Amino acid sequence: MSERLFGTNGVRGVVNEDMTSELALQMGKAIGTVMGGTVAVATDTRASADMIKTAVSAGIMSTGINVLDLGVLPTPALQYYVKTHDNIKGGVMITASHNPPQFNGIKCVSSDGTETSRKEEEKIEEQYQKNIRCAPWNMIGDMSRIKGAGEEYVDAIISNVDAEAIRKADLKVCIDCANGAAYETSPLLLKKLNVRTITINCNPQGEFPGRPSEPTEENLKDLLSLTRSTRSDLGIAHDGDADRCVFITNDGKYVSGDKSLALLSKYILSKKKGLIVTPVSSSSLVKETVEDSGGTVEYTAVGSPIVARKMIETGAVFGGEENGGLIFPEQQYCRDGGMTIAKMLECITKEGPLKSQISKLPVYYTVKKKIDCPDDMKKYVLEYIASESQGAKIDNTDGLKITFDDGWILARPSGTEPAFRIFSESKDEETAKQRAGKYEGLVIEHLNQWFK
Ligand code: MG
Repeated sequence: MSERLFGTNGVRGVVNEDMTSELALQMGKAIGTVMGGTVAVATDTRASADMIKTAVSAGIMSTGINVLDLGVLPTPALQYYVKTHDNIKGGVMITASHNPPQFNGIKCVSSDGTETSRKEEEKIEEQYQKNIRCAPWNMIGDMSRIKGAGEEYVDAIISNVDAEAIRKADLKVCIDCANGAAYETSPLLLKKLNVRTITINCNPQGEFPGRPSEPTEENLKDLLSLTRSTRSDLGIAHDGDADRCVFITNDGKYVSGDKSLALLSKYILSKKKGLIVTPVSSSSLVKETVEDSGGTVEYTAVGSPIVARKMIETGAVFGGEENGGLIFPEQQYCRDGGMTIAKMLECITKEGPLKSQISKLPVYYTVKKKIDCPDDMKKYVLEYIASESQGAKIDNTDGLKITFDDGWILARPSGTEPAFRIFSESKDEETAKQRAGKYEGLVIEHLNQWFK
């Protein structure tokens, strides 16, 4: 069996330690061999972007395959380009998404623009282990630089929302791109929708990330106060590669990804009834809101490619994750931060301010814990928790989801980091906190026993 390279979101590592130019070159050769036709490549704004991109591209070209260099783009803009250009057999995004700046990663995209399936990844991993035969000197691939992919993406988004209504609403927003991949496309999208825009961390020459690139409440302090002090209708923040997007209300309150997923589900279901797909880690808020709006929820394991594939399979009307990664089938089957902005603008234009819409949603309390856990220990921790939870109502879709009368716990090994995650939810805040603490304790207890 070949060595596993891909995690939940591509191949990631610390640059020049495990994410090296040698690895990128060999990955490029494997990708060229497996994709077998023109490959489009884009990057986010990390310091190592050019090094990894040129190494991957050299590897691809050495196998006789042409490379289209699309420059700096959000991941969904690369995916949209691959999906809509018939001559392209696949895409490669050089990004480590929300990881700290010392990381970078390689994410592969299939010819339909979706993230590659596990089966395709295995083919690349298998090639990676081989001594790959290169093309003869006169048949190596070439590289073309393509301009305008970002604007094609923005225009497609605009065609998929009620742009006229948004333009007439005279909205004002603050946006924080973490100096990441959407620094150009998201402000352009807002400009084309006639939205007055105040930007923060939208400078590609600035340091990446302009703030820690995971768009959590703690990391968005500047945006929270800017949104409030400028009396904007909305605050908007992306992660590093802008496949995700979270919002701030006009009074500077952070809106979790669960809430925007629930709210947009409600809005979309008001126009078209159907299925909403989301991983088992999402708040019950989503299920309750969807069912109240006449829809149904289908749960999957965690990971956006899994959600996207389930949506294709079931013809779902909408789907997404609790971290602000939302998928709109009318645009494409992948998380799309730009599309999320436009749909939320349409939603507040038609249904009123975000703050008042959020206040009508049912209230759940979710506590999330992350505990450092070596990769080779994850399996044992999971077994230990299962053995401590006998007799409980357990769902094994991903990790362990244990349902109680007044809430649930999800215990699962992270697919991207040496860590174990605990999610605890209840309508009662104390219960959610206590239970999170209890299960965090179980993980730590087992790790301590092991290392004693
Ligand atoms: Mg991302």
